[in-house]
Amino acid sequence: MGQKKISILGGGESGVGAALLGKAKGFTVFLSDKGTLQEKYRQILEKEGISYEEGGHTPEQILDADEVVKSPGIPDTVPLVQELHRRGIPVISEIELAARYTNAHLIAITGSNGKTTTTLLIYHLLKQAGLSVGLAGNIGDSFARQVIEENYDYYVLELSSFQLDNMYDFRANVAVLLNITPDHLDRYEYDFQKYVNSKFRIIQNQTPADSFIYYCENEPIVAELAKREVAARQWPISLTKAVEAGGYLKEGTLHVHSHDQVLAQIVDELPIKGPHNAINAMAAILVAQSVGIAPDQIRAGLLTFQNAPHRLEPVGSINGVSYINDSKATNVDSVFYALGSFNNPIILIAGGVDKGNDYSQIDDLVRQKVKGLIALGTDTGKLTSHFADTVPAMYATQNLQDALLKAQEWAAPGDVVLLSPACASFDLFRNYEDRGNKFREAVAQLTAQNS
Ligand code: ADP
Repeated sequence: MGQKKISILGGGESGVGAALLGKAKGFTVFLSDKGTLQEKYRQILEKEGISYEEGGHTPEQILDADEVVKSPGIPDTVPLVQELHRRGIPVISEIELAARYTNAHLIAITGSNGKTTTTLLIYHLLKQAGLSVGLAGNIGDSFARQVIEENYDYYVLELSSFQLDNMYDFRANVAVLLNITPDHLDRYEYDFQKYVNSKFRIIQNQTPADSFIYYCENEPIVAELAKREVAARQWPISLTKAVEAGGYLKEGTLHVHSHDQVLAQIVDELPIKGPHNAINAMAAILVAQSVGIAPDQIRAGLLTFQNAPHRLEPVGSINGVSYINDSKATNVDSVFYALGSFNNPIILIAGGVDKGNDYSQIDDLVRQKVKGLIALGTDTGKLTSHFADTVPAMYATQNLQDALLKAQEWAAPGDVVLLSPACASFDLFRNYEDRGNKFREAVAQLTAQNS
């Protein structure tokens, strides 16, 4: 038998990482991208002498492989992938490939919302405690690239359902499942159960020596657990009731106990706000306890955590009014949690490209808390008509500066101006980061004008 041949579909961070790992392991590697490669990736492939193509796929060459690594962005329905399945050529994700080449303790995080925050917090807690830990998955350098040289003892992996779909033998020593809410259904034949199954792949191959941490008030999770045998030790997280082993919120304090450790933490002291972040924090504490970090170290790490931008990020305060950038909130569920994070009156800036939103989920919170709604986007009709009878003041605009001036006009000291769009950003902005950055800049300008 000759050298093992692998084909890689998609030349982004994960595909190029997989190519480098394949080369390091002595495989014959061929990378194919339908679009244009980023210059930095082209340079790496050239320098390493890895064969590749871009601007289209050559099926014969791709099909001439023992195994294929597919980027999570490529749906299963494309003809080439269908052909691979027909021929029985295994299609795996980069995470599956990389996991074969490390003996590190693997901590995997998934959920419809909260993955990045929780992953970064776990990484921070482990690193602060002096552990040798790498961060990968949807964040930063690919897992595959890291396992070539880095011999970390732990990896914290943020996993999307698309990555999980092509994972088979991967075993998480610790699995975290934060929530499952309808998302990306276009990739699951509009069958919610298929999406649930995908998320639950996070616990496949786990053994009684492993841990499964999950939020036990998310209905789809509860319903699915009722149908399954779970091999791992379970650690539920609750916002409403005391649990014997796991984490729960009571009277403004997080109580987390597992692995013979107990920790109580006052929620108000945490740098990340709101009930959703209480869930994320408890998940991270449970992970930290599972790897033996001492309570004092966990507490110290919690207090020094800085979340990634665009997630309930405070970006300024003008005349006693706080401005919050939650541009990452691209679905209604995220806005639900954002509104629940503040006790003060809110001026909500929302809108963009509506992905079939059902706003009724936030009706009650909007009625209780939102004193003004500013609809920002090219097509704001659905938003404004839905809340026409709910909010005292409404304004629609396609201009961010204009939106902020209106917010400033309406706001009284103590109020919160919250950008939490519930929508994708592709009408007025390049992406959610661009939207959040422009919001931050506009608040800075407004601050300068008011000083
Ligand atoms: P992801 O990586 O899954 O997209 P992020 O941590 O980037 O998650 O957060 C995305 C948005 O989801 C945030 O704006 C926040 O409002 C919301 N969110 C964060 N954690 C949770 C949670 N545990 N449950 C529900 N919503 C959450």
